[in-house]
Amino acid sequence: MKVITRFAPSPTGYLHVGGARTALFSYLYARHHGGQFELRIEDTDTERSTEASVNAIFEGMNWLGLEYDSEVKYQSKNLARYHEVLDQLLENDQAYYCDCSKERLDKIREQQMKNGEKPRYDGKCRELGLKKSDNTIIRFKTPKTGEVKFKDHVRGEITVANSELDDLVIARADGMPTYNFSVVIDDADMGITHVIRGDDHINNTPRQINIYQALNLPVPEFAHVPMILGDDGARLSKRHGAVSVMQYSDDGYLPEAVLNYLVRLGWSHGDQELFSKAEMIELFDLSGVNRAPSSFNTGKLNWINQQYMQQTDSARLAQLLNNRLAVLGIAVDDSIDLSAVVDMFKDRAHTINELAEMGLFLLQPLTGYDEKAEAKAFKESAIEPLKAVIAKCEAIDDWASADLHQMIADVVAELEVGFGKVGMPVRLALSGQAQGPANDAIMQVLGKDESIQRLQNALSHLRQKFA
Ligand code: GLU
Repeated sequence: MKVITRFAPSPTGYLHVGGARTALFSYLYARHHGGQFELRIEDTDTERSTEASVNAIFEGMNWLGLEYDSEVKYQSKNLARYHEVLDQLLENDQAYYCDCSKERLDKIREQQMKNGEKPRYDGKCRELGLKKSDNTIIRFKTPKTGEVKFKDHVRGEITVANSELDDLVIARADGMPTYNFSVVIDDADMGITHVIRGDDHINNTPRQINIYQALNLPVPEFAHVPMILGDDGARLSKRHGAVSVMQYSDDGYLPEAVLNYLVRLGWSHGDQELFSKAEMIELFDLSGVNRAPSSFNTGKLNWINQQYMQQTDSARLAQLLNNRLAVLGIAVDDSIDLSAVVDMFKDRAHTINELAEMGLFLLQPLTGYDEKAEAKAFKESAIEPLKAVIAKCEAIDDWASADLHQMIADVVAELEVGFGKVGMPVRLALSGQAQGPANDAIMQVLGKDESIQRLQNALSHLRQKFA
């Protein structure tokens, strides 16, 4: 049997972390088994579905590299098919028209709640044989007896008595099919063998299985993956910060790192943390999906992203850095080699955005000097070392191949002072900070003119201060 899975988002917002994780698991399961992965847009809720959301879903899946195999299916384009099956169910007395008013339904619900009963439709119209009219909905005739049993790949065996289920609505008064109905028709028509989705749908599954059975359709296998919690233990939502997948792109994460992070949200393989996509495909199986909810942990995402950044080619990171700088409105001078900036910080930065922040002093004129560092490093005794370094810099013809580290060492030797007496004021002059990359590396990136300019600015600053 060829495995066919699908991701079936409702386009009512961007692709969020939970959806992306579900998509990834479905994708990996299909790829692992040499099967097919499909995308279906569940857009029958015309009020809440938007084209912008559809595009956001494509964008997110594309960014993460979750390729699907066939043309995207849209439920909104499949209405004729749903109506065909609805008619069939009505004809076979497996569904019926219901004209119960909202007021009546509210009232019985209220009464049931008062009696401590589970609210459900009481079946008033089930045997009335009503004809279609403007305000009739269609309900599915759930069997009154018996039970639904299925083996969930994550949750194990689940049994629900039909007496627990009511006659669910399968088409609204405007003729639009409901989720529980259209999902069955599409999953069956698309030959879906494994339905992998969030466990918020687990209560829908027995209802859907009854529909499969009424239509004599093969029932797929199910895997309901546990929800994702925020760091505070509540279900992950907007207020936890970035939940849209594309927000992680904006925040400077690499897609392969986010993918790696997502696969570990609820799935494990021993204690391995880092997985290439090929490895995920090779190792993923539903038996490794945890039953307990997983918690989103930004610290871990940052760690994973840092690991990936360290392994990533500097030219690619430089391109991403360039994009980030463009977002910040910073035009980079042609003389600046962004790969060199990347190399300087890629072991320390967790994200591209952090890298941009760390490297900003190289790309923009300094706006001042760190106060604490200034008190320590810009003493009167720093004037001579700065002058000496400037003189040596000016004498260098071939900056790119100059040994700038040796140049500073020479100044230290000539002035017969400790290394810090030269190194500290030079670093502060070049970077405005006390800590950071090596002075020779900074000067290499800045180039001869800018290096000298910054050293001279510091020198005039010191001269004024001690005049
Ligand atoms: N459109 C449903 C959702 O986004 C799909 C659920 C399913 O995978 O069956 O929740």
